Amino acid sequence: MEIKKGIAVSPGISIARAMIIDSEDYRIPRRAIEPSQLTAEIQRVRNAFKDAISELTELEATHGKTKGSKIKDIFAVHLRFLHDRSLRKKITDLVHSESVTAEYAVSTALREIASHFSKEEDAYISERAADIYDIERRLLIQLLGKKREDVGHLTEEVTIIARELSPIQTAGFDRNFVKGIASDAGGRTSHAAIVARSLGIPAVVALEDLTESVSGGDTVIIDGNRGIVIVNPDQQTVQQYLEYSKEFAELENKLDAIREKPAVTRDGVKITLLGNIEFPDEAETVLQKGGEGIGLYRTEFLYLNMRTEPTEEDHYQAFAETLRIISNRPVVIRTLDLGADKYTQRKRFAPEPNPFLGLRSIRFCLQNLMMFKTQLRAILRASVLGDVKIMFPLITNLQELMQAKMILRDVMEDLDDESIAYNRDIKVGIMIETPSSALTAFSLARDVDFFSIGTNDLTQYTLAVDRGNELVSHLYSSADPAVLRLIRTVIQDAHKAQIDLSVCGEMASEPEYVMLLLGLGIRTISLTAPMIPEIKQVVRSVIIEDCNNVARKVLGMNSERQISNYLRDAARKILPEAF
Ligand code: PEP
Ligand code: MG
Repeated sequence: MEIKKGIAVSPGISIARAMIIDSEDYRIPRRAIEPSQLTAEIQRVRNAFKDAISELTELEATHGKTKGSKIKDIFAVHLRFLHDRSLRKKITDLVHSESVTAEYAVSTALREIASHFSKEEDAYISERAADIYDIERRLLIQLLGKKREDVGHLTEEVTIIARELSPIQTAGFDRNFVKGIASDAGGRTSHAAIVARSLGIPAVVALEDLTESVSGGDTVIIDGNRGIVIVNPDQQTVQQYLEYSKEFAELENKLDAIREKPAVTRDGVKITLLGNIEFPDEAETVLQKGGEGIGLYRTEFLYLNMRTEPTEEDHYQAFAETLRIISNRPVVIRTLDLGADKYTQRKRFAPEPNPFLGLRSIRFCLQNLMMFKTQLRAILRASVLGDVKIMFPLITNLQELMQAKMILRDVMEDLDDESIAYNRDIKVGIMIETPSSALTAFSLARDVDFFSIGTNDLTQYTLAVDRGNELVSHLYSSADPAVLRLIRTVIQDAHKAQIDLSVCGEMASEPEYVMLLLGLGIRTISLTAPMIPEIKQVVRSVIIEDCNNVARKVLGMNSERQISNYLRDAARKILPEAF
C-alpha cells in the first residue's frame, strides 16, 4: 500500500482499478538497448506498423459505411503515412544508429516530422502535424501493449492515472466508467481540474511522481476531499473508505435536498447563485443543483472539441441548446478564451514559450477577426432566444475593450444589413482577471454593463504563479493579501459605477471563501454546478453582519496562512460536515 498526497480538485471518493493514459505531450524517455537486442527491436517497429495498419484498415471499413464520413478520410490519410516505407526506414535507422528502443525512435522521428510540418505557412500542411501525432500515439499503443486501454470505449469502471491531462481529454471522459482521476501535474484551477469538477468526478492532481508508482490494473483509492491517493490499499483501508464514501454521499443527498430553497442569508439578503459551464448539456445540471442561470459559459470548449474550426451555425446551435434548457434565466456567454492551456499547443504554428503571457483570449480574438466575428454573430443571433449577455475575457486595458466593442458594433451593422434579428440592448461585460484591469476598474466600469471577477487568473497573474504548475502550487492562493486587495478595489469601483458584479473563479466554489466574499460586498456568485448546494447551505447559514466582520478582519491581516486558517475556522463553525 502506498499513500500519496496531492491537491484535492474535485470532491468525492472512488475506488477502482487504474488505467494509465499518456498525455498528448508525454515524452517517451530515451532508453538504450544492447547490440544483441537490435534485431528484435527493429522487428518490434515492423510489427507495430503492421498491427496499426490492420487496426486502421478495419476502422476505415467500419466508418466507410457512414456516407460522407469525415473520420473515414482521416483514417485514409493516416494509412497513407503508415504505408510510407521511408517513414518506417527513418525509424528503424534511428534504432540502429543510436541503439535506442522502438518506442523512443518512433516518438523522436514522428515528433521531428510533426514539428517540421507545423512550421509550414500553408495551413493544410501545418494541420497535418496533428495527424502525425495521432500516428505516433497509435504506434506507441501497439508498442506499449495498451491496445485495449482506449478511454473512448470503456466497459468497466476505472481510475484514470496520467502525468498530465488536457482539458479536452478530461471533457471526453465517460462519467459512467471514469470514477476517479489522478495526475502528476496540474493545480486547483488548471482547466482539466475545472472540467473534472464540473463532471463530478473525484480528482487529485499535483502528485508529482504518481505515474511511477502505479501500474495498469492496480486498485487505487481517490480521496478528492482530502487530496489523497492510495495505491493498492489493504482490506482495512478499503473498508474505511467504503464507509467514508457512504457518509459523503449522504451529505451530498442532504445538500441536494435544499435545491428548491432560496439562497438567502439568515438576515434575509438574497444571493444569486449561477453556474459555470463548458458544454450546453451542463446547463441541465446547473438547474438540477439549484442554480438560477449561467454566469460563465466557457465557449472555447466547442472549439477544442472539433477537428475543424466551428462554423457560425455550430456556435449558434450550442447557444440555442443552452438557452432552451435555461429558459428565460440569464446566460453570460464568454467569448473565446483560447490559448494558454486551452489550445492544444500542437495546433499552433510555433508553440509559445510563455503561453499564459502570450497570444491568449481576447488578444487572440483581436488578431483573428474572422473567427471572432463568426462567434459574435452567433451570440447576437442567439440573443433573441433568451436573456443573453456577452462577456470579454482577459481584458488588460481600455483600448482592448474599445476594440472588442467596436468589432461587436461592426457585427451588429452586418446583421442590420442582412435584416437578421438580435437584441440591440444586449448587456456587455468583461472579466476582471488581471492586476491591470483590477487597478483600472474605475475607468473600465464606465464602458461596460458588468464585471465578473475571474479569480483563477487574477490569482495567477497577481502572484506570478502558473495555475497549472505543481512545482509552485504551494504559492498559489486566492487568500493572498495582494489578491484580496485587488478584489476589494474591483468591488468598490463596480459599486461606485453602479454596474453589476459577480465572481466566477474557483474561489467562488470553495465554502471557506463565501463569508469573505459576501462581507466584501459580492451578491452574485457563479460556480461549478456540483458545488452549488454546499455554497447555498453556507449562504443560508450566515448573517451579513458576521460576513462584514470576517472581511474587515481578513483585510487587516498580512499573511496568506493567517487568512486561510482564519477563513477555514470561520467556515467550519458554519458547516462542520463539509470539512
Ligand atoms: C478565471 O480566470 O477565474 C476564470 C473563471 O476563467 P478561466 O478559469 O476559464 O480561465
Ligand atoms: Mg480566466
